Amino acid sequence: MNPELAKLVALQELDLKIRALEEEIAIVPMKKAELERQFEEFAAAYLEKKSRLEDSRRQHRQLEMDLQDAQLRLEKYKHDLMRVRNQTEYAAALREIDMAKKLISALETQILELLETIETLEREVREQTPEIEAKRQHVDALLAEYATAVERLTEELNRIREERERLARTIRPDLLQRYLRLVELRDGIALAEVRDGSCTACYMTVRPQVYADVRKGEEILTCDHCSRILYYRGASVESPESAA
Ligand SMILES: [Zn+2]
Repeated sequence: MNPELAKLVALQELDLKIRALEEEIAIVPMKKAELERQFEEFAAAYLEKKSRLEDSRRQHRQLEMDLQDAQLRLEKYKHDLMRVRNQTEYAAALREIDMAKKLISALETQILELLETIETLEREVREQTPEIEAKRQHVDALLAEYATAVERLTEELNRIREERERLARTIRPDLLQRYLRLVELRDGIALAEVRDGSCTACYMTVRPQVYADVRKGEEILTCDHCSRILYYRGASVESPESAA
């Protein structure tokens, strides 16, 4: 094969490797986000339970304070009862005492119910915690694997980029320009292998004369249909029919 053509073929191989590596690295943040999303979904019920538990505890503290207030008021009304001066004041004090007692009883019922809820939530949270923690550890391990993979891929990418630059510097400038223009116009594929008489990029049949010349590998020839630079790898890829 023409040495310049062989260099272009090698250059395209490196460029395609670079593109594949860049794509592989670029999807990692999406994979990470998906992993976190799955974890959040998995832990959603648990986290909701934990926040309900906190709310219930807060509510419990408030009710205890309300109860304490009500008890203080009851003590005050009982004290007032001993200092009433007439029947009206006596009736009023009794009414206050009655209301305070009812409030205390209602608060105590609410507190008991809330304590039951808290107990249930505490038990459920405690039971689910190991599972959630195990899942989190698994997610963290995967994230660490992704980070290692990105490091490895980035090293490889840098190595191939350097190799590509070294190779590009040895290619005739006009040919390199032609290659780069085709890369832009043809979605990164500037060169196409000819196999069984067809261009493997656009699948069109190559004229017999062009095919024969491409097989000789002496000149830089292009596909009539897609304008890509054509090359031929060797007889090993020929099918038995076309070889016959
Ligand atoms: Zn073509």
